[in-house]
Amino acid sequence: MSPCPHGLANPFMCPDCRAADRRRSDKPPADIHRASAELVALALAVRPDWDEADIRAALAGAHAVGQTWEQALVGLARLMVDGRAVPRELVPNARDPLALRRIPEPDVAHRGAELARELLTQPDQPGEV
Ligand SMILES: [Zn+2]
Repeated sequence: MSPCPHGLANPFMCPDCRAADRRRSDKPPADIHRASAELVALALAVRPDWDEADIRAALAGAHAVGQTWEQALVGLARLMVDGRAVPRELVPNARDPLALRRIPEPDVAHRGAELARELLTQPDQPGEV
């Protein structure tokens, strides 16, 4: 057996080589079925602290923003195993939508002008562009 192009001595141990083998296969890929009810049941079993309505709302939100079923499935599974995560994190930035709209501090314009004045009064350093 020769080492694989990814540097592993045994190509069967290499996920990249196995994925390449699968792509070369003539076998058509299996159908992926939506199983929302089962996913909700799994989420509730794995995370009894989660509320069923929150999980359903998260899945609906994921669908509404264009996530595929596969993305929602993998995304929710990742959240399940994060003990601090909540279902609404399935949609990016849904944790706290207001956090994105940070209000600048009231004196930010004044401080910017001060900095500009300070920089303009400094002599140019030789060699600087
Ligand atoms: Zn390989």
